[in-house]
Amino acid sequence: MIISIASGKGGTGKTLVATSLALSLKDKHKVQLLDCDVEEPNDHIFLKPVITRSEAVCIQTPKVDEEKCTYCGKCAEVCAYNAIAVFPGHVLVFPELCHGCGACSYLCPEKAVSEEGREIGVVEQGHAEGMEFAQGKLNVGEAMATPVIRKVKEQINHDGITIIDASPGTSCPVVEATKDSDFCLLVTEPTPFGLNDLVLAVEMVRELNIPLAVVLNRAGVGDNKVEVYCRKENIPILLTIPLDIEIARLYSRGVTLVQGMPQWQESFIGLFDKIREMVDERSRSLKR
Ligand code: SF4
Ligand code: SF4
Repeated sequence: MIISIASGKGGTGKTLVATSLALSLKDKHKVQLLDCDVEEPNDHIFLKPVITRSEAVCIQTPKVDEEKCTYCGKCAEVCAYNAIAVFPGHVLVFPELCHGCGACSYLCPEKAVSEEGREIGVVEQGHAEGMEFAQGKLNVGEAMATPVIRKVKEQINHDGITIIDASPGTSCPVVEATKDSDFCLLVTEPTPFGLNDLVLAVEMVRELNIPLAVVLNRAGVGDNKVEVYCRKENIPILLTIPLDIEIARLYSRGVTLVQGMPQWQESFIGLFDKIREMVDERSRSLKR
């Protein structure tokens, strides 16, 4: 089963939920945790994994042979990302804008465009607390997170439980991280920003046709509008974590919730049981 942990708004407790859920399940299940928040992976701060393998992630970017080029401009015309510009007697490539789609080399009538790999990040694999662990790291200044996320997701083992920690927001990296999941947990907080971004995240996950539920973190900090919204939209809130100074202290020291307060483990096991029920129910209804 693949469970992705996402959140519209950043800083709502996605990492707290991903790490504590994984740790709560690892004694009874084969668990792997994939940190796909490649712009700012931080599960490693809490789990302190032993990294055993590291692999560069590259995308193919164009290299123009100006001996062959006639400066016809076709490559610039087909590039949807303005990553290539043609001037009389010169072609300029902007590698940071290039998405590696290959259209320019495919369509160049003179076969003047070849491709070369450009490193944009790295995928690290290892283990932590008896679980498989992998994380992606996008190089500073790079904008293309999705190839790194795809590479992290290549590590998915289909014979256990995979927990994916996605990046916050609702843009391409979150879609890449959460798509193909069996279930998506959206972590939010009861504030106007939390609600606003939750609504956007729900729309995104529904578009991907993935069953979803909410974890309400820092309950007590704001109002009850998240609960009202979830009721109206028929979205279950599977776990509520209160605003608690002790939880905040643990987090600031890099200690996971279930390791610092083991009494929470049962709640996370209960959370997983509810997720499994929802996934089973959905597969039954799809078969009907
Ligand atoms: S399409 Fe090929 S020949 Fe035309 S400008 Fe681009 S690189 Fe040069
Ligand atoms: S590979 Fe695609 S994105 Fe990159 S420069 Fe060529 S057409 Fe543009």
